[in-house]
Amino acid sequence: MRAAEILKTYFGYDSFREGQEDIIRAILSGEDALAIMPTGAGKSVCYQVPALLLPGITIVVSPLISLMQDQVKALNEAGIHAAFINSSLTETQIAKALRFAMEGRYKIIYVAPERLESAGFMQFAQAADISMLTVDEAHCISQWGQDFRPSYLKIVEFIDRLPARPVVSAFTATATREVRTDIECILKLRDPKIVVTGFDRENLYYSVEHVSGRRKDDFIMDHIKKHADESGIVYCATRKNVDALYEKLRQSGVSVTRYHAGIDNDTRKKNQDDFIYDRAQIVIATNAFGMGIDKSNVRYVIHYNMPQSMENYYQEAGRAGRDGENAQCILLFSAQDVMIDKFLLAKKEFEGMDLDDIELVRHRDAQRLQVMEGYCRSTSCLRNYILEYFGERTAAPCDNCGNCHREYDEQDMTAEAKWVVNCIAEMRGRYGLNIVIGTLLGANRARLKEIGASAYKSYGTLENRSETEVRLLIDQMLAEGYIVQTGGEYSLLQMGDISRLKDENTRVIIRRAQEQEGSGSRAKKKITDSLTSAGYDLFEKLRRLRMAIAKEEAMPPYIIFSDRTLIDMCARAPRDQAEMLQVAGIGENKFNRYGERFLAEIAAFLAEHPGAVAGMQTDDGGRCAAPAAKRGRKEAFYLNQEDAERFCYAEYRYISEIKEQLNQITSAPNVKKITVGVIWEYLVRAGLTAEQQGQEGYTKVQTEQGLQLGIKTIDKVSQGGLAYQLLLYPEAVQKMIVEHFTGPRDAEG
Ligand code: ADP
Ligand code: ZN
Repeated sequence: MRAAEILKTYFGYDSFREGQEDIIRAILSGEDALAIMPTGAGKSVCYQVPALLLPGITIVVSPLISLMQDQVKALNEAGIHAAFINSSLTETQIAKALRFAMEGRYKIIYVAPERLESAGFMQFAQAADISMLTVDEAHCISQWGQDFRPSYLKIVEFIDRLPARPVVSAFTATATREVRTDIECILKLRDPKIVVTGFDRENLYYSVEHVSGRRKDDFIMDHIKKHADESGIVYCATRKNVDALYEKLRQSGVSVTRYHAGIDNDTRKKNQDDFIYDRAQIVIATNAFGMGIDKSNVRYVIHYNMPQSMENYYQEAGRAGRDGENAQCILLFSAQDVMIDKFLLAKKEFEGMDLDDIELVRHRDAQRLQVMEGYCRSTSCLRNYILEYFGERTAAPCDNCGNCHREYDEQDMTAEAKWVVNCIAEMRGRYGLNIVIGTLLGANRARLKEIGASAYKSYGTLENRSETEVRLLIDQMLAEGYIVQTGGEYSLLQMGDISRLKDENTRVIIRRAQEQEGSGSRAKKKITDSLTSAGYDLFEKLRRLRMAIAKEEAMPPYIIFSDRTLIDMCARAPRDQAEMLQVAGIGENKFNRYGERFLAEIAAFLAEHPGAVAGMQTDDGGRCAAPAAKRGRKEAFYLNQEDAERFCYAEYRYISEIKEQLNQITSAPNVKKITVGVIWEYLVRAGLTAEQQGQEGYTKVQTEQGLQLGIKTIDKVSQGGLAYQLLLYPEAVQKMIVEHFTGPRDAEG
């Protein structure tokens, strides 16, 4: 069998994703391989497919028990014989597994790195026919990485002791150069095929919300309400935060669970399972949660506090949208959190480490925190900020993140800044943020009276400003170093370097974010939005069936079928095995196990609602005449006539908003999603826009004709002072686009 057939038969996918084929080809021709691919890109397939084609056994070294168990479950579900060997098994169970392995019953065996050092396992390995050794989460081998595992260093000794060197393949999502070099060197890879796929996760929408204190809870509550039925993770910095937020949500009737290291093992395991098995919709957790969690349908990850590094953030946020559908990564930021982080780092203990090393680690920690803070305070493209940090080259702003969609009001608050300085001087740096703000606003609070604040000259000087404005001003002054905040639990505001403020040309500008009308809607688009209402009813039915099967088999629902598979099933409404096998994610084994039950459910639904689902299949109201096999390939995007009428025009829209709406309103069967690129191409062909080569690469501009039709540019300035522009399309152009994409298209589209 060829690789592509394996992919279809066992995994149910029609084609490989970027990078997968290159890696598989290299492995099959006996080369070592190193793949650096972001979370969710599909690394597992890269070693599982060749494992089935190689003559002997593949050993997969994986750092976490839960990860192994999940992978083995998923493989068994797909009809692939695999097993894991780790400390969760008894000696007898291990002996039995190894015996089965010797007999050739398993093609893939997952082991923890420590296992490689055990004599029993070595004995097995020396006698068995091992074709490949795969190192998953290979960054664990590097001390530069986040999760260094000393036992990973032993892998190479293990390989050296094997009678014949197997192919060695390594996989990680960590891209930095140091880590990459470490993997290559420490594992002694032999001229490996290295594949690095883009780090960007296009389906993730990043945003940072400046909210503090209790307003964070309100934000989360509101978000949950707007996203009922969706699975989400909320990360908090401390156990205390987790508990408090958990209680609050639970009391308001939200389906929620929690996870942190302070909860006993059994309860923790149960809570984790509740989330994975969709019994609890939301999990509130510390960063102890998530390693090895493969749940694919997490629709949002909210960070209640700022994480301590971009590496952590990208990994945690990356647990959203592994199924490739749109998902949101929201970070709630308050300046207070940065203080807490600094305080925690200052308290961090380093046992048994050299002084030099401690200094190095401290320096690195501080730098990481600064990068993170920069992300939170950035007013330019968040996606580009992340990608640049990971060393990827970026072009224009992504037009698909909170900052790209935000308008800023700039205000000169130089005069007000001087009052802040006066106030802090009057207080001689003895008070914190809230007292300073209260004083400037002239608040009538007992605490202010107590300290005699009303007698200060600065008292009430900013009373015509809002609290938010004053907070932003103080944030800005902190960022520019005019004032500083002390560390520790009770952080105080004190004078920084104000010499520049005395220069009359110096300006203190605050940027205030303005939520634009209609903005954010694109990210809030739901995975089920592509379904018609009848399709949605069917989706609910199939979801219930999936849940019932999951319970019978004690298996997470997403391992049985992903949401995406269910949605595809609703859109195609298959009537027999051949049609069912066309659904994305259904391989032969999955069909044999569950196919008939789902077919029966669909048939029953169609009998009850004749024609209902058929409407989604065709544009003429009848059932699509083309046989299922021919529908396997998706057609280019188009809208039906009635869809076109549902487009909601606005005075101006971003291209990404237009894209989202088009995808949302189309009822055409089996079409590819439209992308910004496709719309852009049309605009260029229509002579309305063009790409212009400038000093910093290509920029997107409107042509003379586009200008006449009213396409306008808005200027944006990144925090680093870099100016860039985004295009806004008027109603007339929106109409042109909708018309262009209306009506079934030729294959070429
Ligand atoms: P990673 O290990 O890189 O984080 P996974 O191997 O868990 O990612 O894959 C992420 C998801 O993508 C899984 O649900 C997997 O089944 C799916 N997937 C992998 N390869 C393909 C493919 N070629 N086509 C469609 N889906 C795929
Ligand atoms: Zn952006």
